[in-house]
Amino acid sequence: MTRIAIVATGGTIASEATDAGVVATKTAAQLVERAGLDDIEIETVDLMTVGSYRLTLGHLRQISDAVGALLTRSTERVDGVVITHGTDTMEETAILLDLVHDDPRPVVLTGAQRAGDNADGDGPGNLTDAVRVAATPTARDRGVMIVFAGQIIPARGARKIHTTALDAFRSVVSPSSGKVTNGQVCFGPTAPRPDPLPRPDAGFDDTRVDLVDVYPGADDALLRAAAACGAAGIVLAGTGIGNGNPAIVEAAADLVDDGLALVLSTRVPAGPVRGVYGNGGGADLVGVGVPPVSGLPATQARILLALLLSTGRTRDQPLAHLIETYADVSPNRASNSDVSTDIHTTLIHDNELPNTKED
Ligand code: ASP
Repeated sequence: MTRIAIVATGGTIASEATDAGVVATKTAAQLVERAGLDDIEIETVDLMTVGSYRLTLGHLRQISDAVGALLTRSTERVDGVVITHGTDTMEETAILLDLVHDDPRPVVLTGAQRAGDNADGDGPGNLTDAVRVAATPTARDRGVMIVFAGQIIPARGARKIHTTALDAFRSVVSPSSGKVTNGQVCFGPTAPRPDPLPRPDAGFDDTRVDLVDVYPGADDALLRAAAACGAAGIVLAGTGIGNGNPAIVEAAADLVDDGLALVLSTRVPAGPVRGVYGNGGGADLVGVGVPPVSGLPATQARILLALLLSTGRTRDQPLAHLIETYADVSPNRASNSDVSTDIHTTLIHDNELPNTKED
C-alpha cells in the first residue's frame, strides 16, 4: 500500500473559532478523519499548531528538517509527504522546501480558506487531493507543489492571490502543473528546477532579510533602517518592472558598498523585473549592484536570499549569478531583450484571477 506522511503545522485547515478569534488547534489525525483516504496508508506527524502568520525562519527550518528526516530514514519508507499549513505564508515554506529538495518523491503543501470547524470547509477536500497527488507515481521528480482547490501549483512562483476565495493560489511565473478532478490527478509539463541547495542550518533562523516596498514619495528611511536593524539582505519591491527613485538608488548604492545583498523585485503581481529606466529607475539600481529577480515573487526571493546568505553562498559567488541559477530558471522567463511579449503578462489572463466576491 502507498504510504504518505502528513505533517501538520496548523493554519486555518486546523483551526476553530474561539472567543479569542480563529486559532489552530487540530492534530493531523483529526484532519485525516475528515478526509476519507482509506486506500492509502497514512502516517501523521504533529510538528506545530500555529497560524502561518506567526511563523519565523526558525519554524521554516523545522519544517524543512522534518521533511528531510521523513525522506531520508531507512525504515517505514514513505512515498510522499503532505504538509498542512496556513495559507498566509505557504508560498515561503513551499519555496524553501523546493530549493533544498533532493529526492524524487513529492512534497505537497495544502491548507484551507475556511476554518476546520466549518461544516462547508475546503480543508478535507484539499487534504484528500494533496494526498492523492503525493501518492501518484507521476508526481515524482516534480519537486514541491501546492495543491489547493483542485489546482496543482509548482512551489516556484506560487503566490496567495486572494484573501478569501477558495481558489487562492496561482503561479506568477509558470502555468499550473495540473489539476485534481474527482480524485483523478492530471499533470501538465513540469517547470525546470535548479540543483538543490543544502538544507538550512541554525544560521538561517537569524538571517535577517527585509522586504522594502517602493511607492510614490518613498524615501531612503526604510532601506537604511533595515540595515541599521541588522539586515544582511534586502528585497526591494520596486514599482512596475523594478524601479526606485533617486533617494532609493543612493541608499541602495551605500548599502551594497557596505556589503549588504540587495535584489530587485517588483510590487506588481506578475511579470519580469528588468533594469530598464534611468533617473532613479531599475537601470540605476542594477548599475549600483542590485540584480533583478524575475523567476520568483518578492516573498520567495526573500527566502532564497536568506538561504544563500546563511549558507555562505554569497561570499563565494556573485549575487547576480546566484539569482540566475536559483531564481530565474523558468523557460517562460522573458529574455533580457524583450520586455513586452513576456508570458508573465499573459498568465493572469490564462489562469484568470478568482472573482472578487466574498465567499
Ligand atoms: N489565513 C491563514 C490560513 O489559511 C491563516 C494562516 O496562515 O495560518 O491558514
